[in-house]
Amino acid sequence: MRTYEQDLIGAKQFIEQHDDFLIVAHVQPDGDAVSSTLAVGWLLSRLGKTFTMVNEGPIPQRMTYMHKSEEILNMSVTERTRTYSNVICVDCADFKRVGLVSQWMEEGANMLNIDHHPTNDGYGTQTLIKADAAATAEVLYDLIALFEIGWDRNIAEMLYTGILTDTGGFRYSSTSPKVMEIASHLLELGVNGPDLADSLLEQLTKPQFDVLTLALGTLQMSNDGKVAWVHVTPEHMIQAGAANEDLEGIVNYPRNIQGVEVGVLFKVIDEGAVKASMRSAGKVDVAAVAAEFGGGGHVRAAGCRLEGSLQEVTERVIERIRQAL
Ligand code: 5GP
Ligand code: MN
Repeated sequence: MRTYEQDLIGAKQFIEQHDDFLIVAHVQPDGDAVSSTLAVGWLLSRLGKTFTMVNEGPIPQRMTYMHKSEEILNMSVTERTRTYSNVICVDCADFKRVGLVSQWMEEGANMLNIDHHPTNDGYGTQTLIKADAAATAEVLYDLIALFEIGWDRNIAEMLYTGILTDTGGFRYSSTSPKVMEIASHLLELGVNGPDLADSLLEQLTKPQFDVLTLALGTLQMSNDGKVAWVHVTPEHMIQAGAANEDLEGIVNYPRNIQGVEVGVLFKVIDEGAVKASMRSAGKVDVAAVAAEFGGGGHVRAAGCRLEGSLQEVTERVIERIRQAL
């Protein structure tokens, strides 16, 4: 059994021994995904390496304050001009999560898989996975420290963003003493913690507020009050003028009702597919539930995509959660 320390050294060697990298995070990147992409880019720049950063999906507007965020390509709007044989995947629990960016990779590419999902299946030629890390950004903090190349405010802001968003503002159970030590160091490097918390966790755009209102109006609960769910349809999205990133956080509302063990947000993607986001109060391992439907995540936060109508998918997922209770 390899230790985390050995994997850190292995990842360092992987980076030292290759060049001309493709850096990719999961489809529809969130705070940790964007931060981790940029943090790897920052590291490679420091090492004098060349790289391309690309994701399937746009980076959320509210994350564009990060250094070089404009350099992350969105493959949905950027045409592919070449393929890459050295790849670094961040925050992707399985290879499918890179989405169509897989088309940018050569067959048999050297691949470093850096992640913190317990459901990570260990894809790639080199892995650096810490299942109890609060964020992929926490793992990258350890990796960058190993290079002994110093720090600056830009990298501090990236790592802080990943940790802040993936811990829900230092509140989830993943917020270990080590997380607080890292955050302390990043604040010393000049990160403005309160401003980031306000813009990333508190502020709502009007479309976000509107889609939240529409979603809350759909609340349903199981008879015993232990499962609560809401849904969002394409019509809601149009009515609110909302984008995918505007759904972040909605699933917490059903979960936060007293007595609820699992909260779910069902997002109708199109007529035949629904994305389920699940949050657990602790008793139910929602990663295991999501994994059964081909998804994954963490014990208390997981997701999956199912084929079927909203009603069919809702029945299947709620039934499976009730079994787990
Ligand atoms: P969210 O519900 O916010 O989209 O995701 C919650 C957690 O579940 C995140 O850690 C995310 O990476 C994971 N997750 C969400 N959707 C999927 C999916 O389709 N597949 C996998 N493997 N993980 C997912
Ligand atoms: Mn993450």
